[in-house]
Amino acid sequence: MTSNPFDPNAILDGIRRWVEIETPTEAPEQVNKLATLVADGYRDLPATTERIAGKDGCGDHLVTRSSWGQEQPGILVLSHLDTVHPMGFIERLKFRTEGDSAFGPGIYDMKGGAYIAFQAFRQLCRNGERPPLGITHIFTSDEEIGSPTSRALIEAEGQRAKYVLVTEPARDGGKVVTGRKGVGRFEVFIKGTPAHAGSRPEDGRSAIRELANVIDTLEALNDPKRGVTVNVGVVRGGTRPNVIAENAYAEVDLRVPSFADADELVARILSLRSRTEGVSVEVTGELNRPPYEKGNAGAALFEHAKRLAADLGFELVDTYTGGGSDGNFTAAHTATLDGLGVDGKGAHTHYEQIYISSIEPRARLLHRLYQTLR
Ligand SMILES: [Zn+2]
Repeated sequence: MTSNPFDPNAILDGIRRWVEIETPTEAPEQVNKLATLVADGYRDLPATTERIAGKDGCGDHLVTRSSWGQEQPGILVLSHLDTVHPMGFIERLKFRTEGDSAFGPGIYDMKGGAYIAFQAFRQLCRNGERPPLGITHIFTSDEEIGSPTSRALIEAEGQRAKYVLVTEPARDGGKVVTGRKGVGRFEVFIKGTPAHAGSRPEDGRSAIRELANVIDTLEALNDPKRGVTVNVGVVRGGTRPNVIAENAYAEVDLRVPSFADADELVARILSLRSRTEGVSVEVTGELNRPPYEKGNAGAALFEHAKRLAADLGFELVDTYTGGGSDGNFTAAHTATLDGLGVDGKGAHTHYEQIYISSIEPRARLLHRLYQTLR
């Protein structure tokens, strides 16, 4: 047995076991394999684990609840077990350490963070501690595709909780996240009239030409000062160069800092109309993650975490990001603090890594949060 309960090397061994089970969102049997390993880790702890069967091609979700404190609003911890990396990616990004870095698929986003939160809970239990608030930890299977099968669960548990702690990666020197933009996703379907481009061009109405109008209109909605971004990220259309295109299609990503911006921009995108007679434009989509605005309760939670970090010997700084997380689903109702995972870099890339020196302080911070929140 190690004398330091937060020995980074021991924790890293555990993270490695989670990383070496590859868990692409679209490989539910793999995600389930890891969920089983995670559930095993709770077997000797004063906690119940509930497994919610996966659906729509996603893996299972795991909900663990401390045996104490469940009769009142407590702490909800959110982690996801899935990664963006496809099966076999581990051949390219084998678990390895090099100096202060440990590499592996999903190690930073977010198996490192999920593991240290589990470890902090283990430590609490090992010491026989029963802090004032109960702790519920949800491990989901589908965050990387926008949480379609876990959103309802997260919202329901989030509303029941007093605090939400999200173990997404820390950023840029250990910053936590106290705000995120809302995210919208839209599809644009354009239908024109096909014709021979050489012999009967006057009969045609090009869907691709109208797509150009649509792109123009959407791009014009970008407003960097307000923090609004609109990106046409995918386009398709037409069949051959000598045919006036009957169909065109686009996929659009929207990011908004506030609910007011969300209402305005979603309405504007959904009301896109064709500027060309004989061509139809139809838009479907919605806000799939609401904005995560830094509220008073969230600010107080951050201040509390900051004091705990100072006692542990490091300065905790917060930041705001355009990237969404499951924290977006809880922040409007419940004090939420995100980015509590391990520091590192290269999320979603072939050089994804965590900084080993950040393991212990981050694990200790979570442990202190569990101990002190009330
Ligand atoms: Zn993540």
